[in-house]
Amino acid sequence: MAAARPDTTFFHCCPADADPRSLLDPDNQVTGPWGPPDHGPCDKCRGDGVALYECRSCLETGARAECSACEGRVRFEATCPACLGDGTIDRTRRHGVAVFPTLEGLYRYLAERDAHTEGKVVVELAGRLGEDRDLDADAGALLVHPEEIVEVQPLNQELIGAIRGRLAAGTPAEPRSFPPELDG
Ligand SMILES: [Zn+2]
Ligand SMILES: [Zn+2]
Repeated sequence: MAAARPDTTFFHCCPADADPRSLLDPDNQVTGPWGPPDHGPCDKCRGDGVALYECRSCLETGARAECSACEGRVRFEATCPACLGDGTIDRTRRHGVAVFPTLEGLYRYLAERDAHTEGKVVVELAGRLGEDRDLDADAGALLVHPEEIVEVQPLNQELIGAIRGRLAAGTPAEPRSFPPELDG
């Protein structure tokens, strides 16, 4: 019974040369945008204050009632995570470490973004959900306060490529973050 694997774990992507244990330090449990802070009118909801949420984990695995991001709802509208409903992005630094509740969701998220995935690892961790909403909560990202590092594994570049290929082929594509120039 000793050293049992935690029931609920989350998946975080970070540079391979970072020390995953630093995620356990509350001072490091903050998340910002991928690029420079982008304050101003909200480009995610175009000022509506409401965004379409599509849980990348459940899009990949099928709806799961136990999903911490969507509780099996998969697609729904809710308060825009970028502007928090007021149409203006003015707080991009959030408390917690950005994670996905499944490995599948993390890979889907990374594959959809034109992100550099070389030299990255996936950290599986256990912890408690934070109060803050991730900037990409509409993709099913969560913010957690890690309490235990469960496993670190290299990011599988082939899998990222395979998901990109599948999305480009038009198999259940995600309409908004899917680059239109890949059409045809
Ligand atoms: Zn879900
Ligand atoms: Zn917004």
